[in-house]
Amino acid sequence: MPEIRQLSPSVINKIAAGEVIERPASVVKELMENSVDAGALRVDVTVAQGGTESIRIVDNGCGIRPDQMMMAIASHATSKIEDAEDLFNVETLGFRGEALASIAEVSQMTVRSCADGATEGAELEINGGKAEPVKPCGCPVGTSIEVRNLFFNTPVRRRFMKANQTEMGHITEAFTRLALVHPNVHFKLQHNGRVTQDLPSADNWKDRIAHFYGKDLADALIWVESEEEGIRLSGFVADPVFNRSHTRMQYLFLNGRHIRDRSLQHALGEAYRGLLLTGRYPIAFLKLDMPAHLVDVNVHPTKLEVRFQDARKLYSQLLSTIRNKFLSTDLTARVHEHSERTDAAGTPAASAERPQNLGLSYPRSDVSSIGATNQYSGSGAGQFPGVTPAIPADNYRLPESFQRALDTSNLPANTERLDVNPAAADVPAQLPISTLGLQVHNRYLVTQDESGMLVIDQHALHERVLYEQLREKVLAGELETQRLLVPEPVSMSGPEAAVAVEHKELFEQIGIEVEPFGGDTILVSSYPAMLRRVRPAELIRQLIDEIMVGEKQPDRRDVLDELMHMMSCKAAVKAGDPLTPEEIHSLLMQRHLFHDTHHCPHGRPTALVFTRDELDRRFERT
Ligand code: ADP
Ligand code: MG
Repeated sequence: MPEIRQLSPSVINKIAAGEVIERPASVVKELMENSVDAGALRVDVTVAQGGTESIRIVDNGCGIRPDQMMMAIASHATSKIEDAEDLFNVETLGFRGEALASIAEVSQMTVRSCADGATEGAELEINGGKAEPVKPCGCPVGTSIEVRNLFFNTPVRRRFMKANQTEMGHITEAFTRLALVHPNVHFKLQHNGRVTQDLPSADNWKDRIAHFYGKDLADALIWVESEEEGIRLSGFVADPVFNRSHTRMQYLFLNGRHIRDRSLQHALGEAYRGLLLTGRYPIAFLKLDMPAHLVDVNVHPTKLEVRFQDARKLYSQLLSTIRNKFLSTDLTARVHEHSERTDAAGTPAASAERPQNLGLSYPRSDVSSIGATNQYSGSGAGQFPGVTPAIPADNYRLPESFQRALDTSNLPANTERLDVNPAAADVPAQLPISTLGLQVHNRYLVTQDESGMLVIDQHALHERVLYEQLREKVLAGELETQRLLVPEPVSMSGPEAAVAVEHKELFEQIGIEVEPFGGDTILVSSYPAMLRRVRPAELIRQLIDEIMVGEKQPDRRDVLDELMHMMSCKAAVKAGDPLTPEEIHSLLMQRHLFHDTHHCPHGRPTALVFTRDELDRRFERT
């Protein structure tokens, strides 16, 4: 029979230390957090050999009274909370009272501290958890903690430490996370006698970010903010041209504490959907501030993960805040920026920072595959919803202004005549200048506006226009539907049919009426008029697919919005569809009707701008 024994405090502390202190970076994190909690405005971190030899942190915070020194290193001793109630109202970074005890247990530690207003400081030496008596010492107000030979008495842990450089990488990351969110504090990091970061206190957050990641990135940051029921989201997201192959530059701070949250990370990815190539991830610095009782921070030993009371609401707040911001921001890829950036990308270091996916190389695969689907109504290229040609497609004549604009024989023989020929000048004057366009490769429309020449993706623009129309109508409950003369039966798998019936009301909102029809068949009896080009069976299947995929995700996107995106994508002209000049005109006209037509609903840009300056420069006119 094995005997059950009580573990000694030293073993208990070692076990606890194992949870909190995983590697040198954990020491840096815990000690820096203590300094910030102590109200320090200056924190110096000095590391030798990746922290395996020594870590020293000096701050000018409130300090520790001599009579409290022993208490500070006792386990479960803290000044930050008092009772269980406080656990749900934590306003400091620390609260468990375990860090100093844990570190002291697995290292040789010296604490020197002078409390604010005290005449004398105190010093405490602890070796593997065994403390010497507290001695008086002279030192400035604040606290200095030195940790040597980490894990010297836990050989297994010691062996698990990686190369100094790797450990230093983790330390830098821990330093960065804290320094990023407290711009008012002057932080300094030194490794093996060399200063690697020196961050004087900054007035604003952007300056601090610029200090870490450079001015280029800081200039490309877009401010986002929103407040919903006491939950404030604020911070910066980077222009999609700045992106990474990893998610490490997605910083999320909850009430001043760096956290990781997979669900919110997913929401961020969703907000950038279509703006980044696969395998590339957005950069973000976001703060969430909420009353402490709306979140439980006591679920993870190093408090890296937290539990929100309403994770779903947060998800949609983050997603919609960023999406809405993008919709009102002109992210139209500017071609001159592209060339400048390419020119500048000379060094490998620079090219790693360079945007990987400028407008010119956005993924096109989805467009071409959509282009392959059949057109249901068979009404030909002359008709698509929302873009109605004035003249039947097969016997149209170019409007006169168009003919004049395109007819090369009308062009003045020399440039001097351009200025004096009013006929040439009044062509664009009759219409808003950018509604005349030329289709190239049955895919793109070339037009102009005051700023320069625009190349527009016809599918992306039409999709955007339709999406806006659809959304307006759906929200107002005014979507025109068309009763099918003969309801169309659609056979599907059992689960699909169940989803269809279950989401009957959702489908009705977007103008589709479905009824069960025995077995796994459903009947589609009415259909949105704008979708007449798309086969009901095909659309229904895809919509159901979308719902089913969404349900498997831990946090569902807004399903209605998703379905509207899909419908507009299906109903829009495809890349490869020839357009008549009237259709081109009509499409370009509608570009101005919506406040944001710079992006298709998936977020890809709908237009590239070649600015006049850029054209002049390229043709060496300047
Ligand atoms: P916690 O931070 O969870 O309270 P710690 O073990 O990290 O637990 O610290 C124990 C206590 O020691 C803190 O509550 C605080 O009162 C005191 N303390 C630790 N570091 C400092 C510091 N740098 N300046 C002032 N007080 C400190
Ligand atoms: Mg602490």
